[in-house]
Amino acid sequence: MAYELPPLPYDYNALEPHIDEQTMRLHHDKHHAGYVTGLNTTLEKLEQARANGDFSGVAPLLKNLAFHGSGHVLHSIFWTNMKPNGGGQPSGEIAGRIERDFGSSDALRGQFLGAANTIPGSGWAILGWHNDLQKLLVLQTHRHMDLTVWGITPLLVLDMWEHAFYLNYQNRKTDYSQAFFDNLVNWDNVNERFQRAKNG
Ligand code: MN
Repeated sequence: MAYELPPLPYDYNALEPHIDEQTMRLHHDKHHAGYVTGLNTTLEKLEQARANGDFSGVAPLLKNLAFHGSGHVLHSIFWTNMKPNGGGQPSGEIAGRIERDFGSSDALRGQFLGAANTIPGSGWAILGWHNDLQKLLVLQTHRHMDLTVWGITPLLVLDMWEHAFYLNYQNRKTDYSQAFFDNLVNWDNVNERFQRAKNG
C-alpha cells in the first residue's frame, strides 16, 4: 500500500503574505511529493531485498527510509500546524503544560525560534511531547531525522530548509521563523496533537 501526498488543508495562497503561493506550490507539490515518492520507492526496494533474500544493499536503503520517511511525516504535520491568521497565544490544555515545562509561552517562543534560527544548513525546529519523560521538549533536528530523542511525538514543527523560505525571504530566515510563530501557528491543531500524544 503506497503512501500518498496529503492535500493542503487550505489554498496555496492562504498563508500570504507570510508564505507566498509560489513557495507553497513548489514546497508541497515538488518537495513533499518527492519525499513521498522516495519513501514508496525505498519500501519497494526493501520488499525486493526480502523477496530475494539479499540484504547486501540494505544500509543505504535504511538511510533513505529515515530521510524520506521523516521528510514525509514532518511535512504532513507542518501543513496542519499553520492556518491563515494564526499565531497568538497557545490555547487549550497545552497552554498550561507550556507554562509548566518552559515557564511561559514567551520563553517557549524564544527557545523555539532559537532552535530554528541556529540550524546549520537544513533542518527543523520541533516542539514535541515525550510520553516516557512526561515533558514537552524543543528539539533542533538536522535534515529531517538527526538529533532526535527516541519516543518523542512532534506537535509543532517548522521547516527551516531554504526551499521553505528562500523565494520570499532570501537570507532573512529569522523574519520567516518569526512570521511562522507569530502569524501562522494553529494552536488548536497543536493542542489536539498534544491530547492525542498524551492519551496514546
Ligand atoms: Mn520542506
